[in-house]
Parts: sequence; C-alpha cells; structure tokens
Amino acid sequence: MERITENQLILPALYLMANNKGGVITTRDLISQLTGILHPTGVDAMILKNRKDTYFSQKVRNLKSHDTLTSKDLATNENKGFKITSKGRAFLSSHRDVLDYILAEPFNYEDIKSALDDIKERDDLLPIEEIISEGNVITKNIKIRERSSILRLRAIEYFTHDDKICCDCCGFNFPQYYGGGYGKDCIEIHHIKPIFQYKDESFDQSLEKALQNLLPVCPNCHRVIHSNRIGSGQLILFKTEIKQRKQASL
Ligand SMILES: [Zn+2]
Ligand SMILES: [Zn+2]
Repeated sequence: MERITENQLILPALYLMANNKGGVITTRDLISQLTGILHPTGVDAMILKNRKDTYFSQKVRNLKSHDTLTSKDLATNENKGFKITSKGRAFLSSHRDVLDYILAEPFNYEDIKSALDDIKERDDLLPIEEIISEGNVITKNIKIRERSSILRLRAIEYFTHDDKICCDCCGFNFPQYYGGGYGKDCIEIHHIKPIFQYKDESFDQSLEKALQNLLPVCPNCHRVIHSNRIGSGQLILFKTEIKQRKQASL
C-alpha cells in the first residue's frame, strides 16, 4: 500500500485552512483534522519509532519543513501553522467540487489518495455527476450534493430487474413491503469509488464506468455505510454478515 504524498495533502489542507477563522490553522489542528477526514490506514497510521508522530502526521509536518505550500504561494507561514493566500483560495475553489465529492462519500483511503493525485495531474477532471447534470458543459459551481437526476435514473434503470429494485445490502424492497406502489422512489444510490470523467473519455464510456461503481441501497443501509465509513474493501463482508444474520433469525 502506497503512503500519502505531500502533494496529495495540499488540497485538503487548504480546505481546512479556508474553513478556519481568518484562514489560519495550526499544524497541530491540521494534523488532527486531516487525520479526521482522510482516515489514514496502513503504514501511514503507524507510529514512528521513539516518537508520538505517525507517518501521516510527520507528512503533515513536512508541509512546513519542506515549504510545500509556501513555495507555491498557496499559504504563508504563521507562528505555529499556516494562513491561506488568495492564490491558495483560488486553487481551492477551482477544485472544491471534486474535494466535496470525495469527502461526502465514505471512500477508502486508497481511493481518496488516488483521486487527489488525479486532481493534481488533470485540470479537466470532474466528478461524473457534474458532467451529467450539465450535459457536456462543464460548470464547476454546482453543489455535488445535489445529486444528478440523470445518473440516478440511469442507475435505477440499470439495477432494476423484473420490475424490482432491492437494497443491495439487505434486500429490502419498498413496494413489496409497503404495498400499493409506496416507496418506489426511496431507493438511494451509493458511490463505491470516486467517479470522474477524463478528457479522453467519451460520455458513454464514463457513464458505463460510473454505473459499475454505484450500488442501490435502502436509506438504513446507506446510513450505516456512511456513519461507519464502510469502504469498497469492506462492503462484501458487510453484505455477507447481513445475509448470515438474516438466515440465522429465520
Ligand atoms: Zn438495506
Ligand atoms: Zn453513499
């Protein structure tokens, strides 16, 4: 498993700075808040020998000692931390949608890291929902939480079999349980991995790929997936355990 790089930390660090009073954040707060949103795992979560730091927190400290942010004029050094510059704010707002999207779903550490890498390398990168909601016109200002109705409709079409769409985790079927056609629209769509469209990809290619990374789930399962940050790697176990408990209670 690859460790996080300083470059991958830039965008989330600027985000936390911008959301803090005066655009200023201490290194200490930066470490705890970045840990809170990125949930480092593997080697990054390990404690360095003879120190209190993890590999991850050491990497955050390096943002200062290596001048990663100041040399790019994205932030200035403050007494015990950083202050975001106007260039930093501009950089953040041009990628804010992608960041919001990554942070809104319980993507795992690996997925978040690779998505942050993509941001750095491809300026044209956008979450697929943004593209769909505007046709092919790229608008960066749409809030990612306003789910694209087209992607949702395509996903519902894709996951409906014999006129039925069930929660992929617990099997719950709204119309069957409530009868009378109630609850038809209550199924929710969960994103397993971050979905982006690249410049060299056609819309249909992206859509096809996007569907592979979606899952129809009931609101209960969806809530549990998010509140426990169940990532792509743990989903199968999560589903298997639900099935086993269900069978045991029959
Ligand atoms: Zn469910
Ligand atoms: Zn979700």
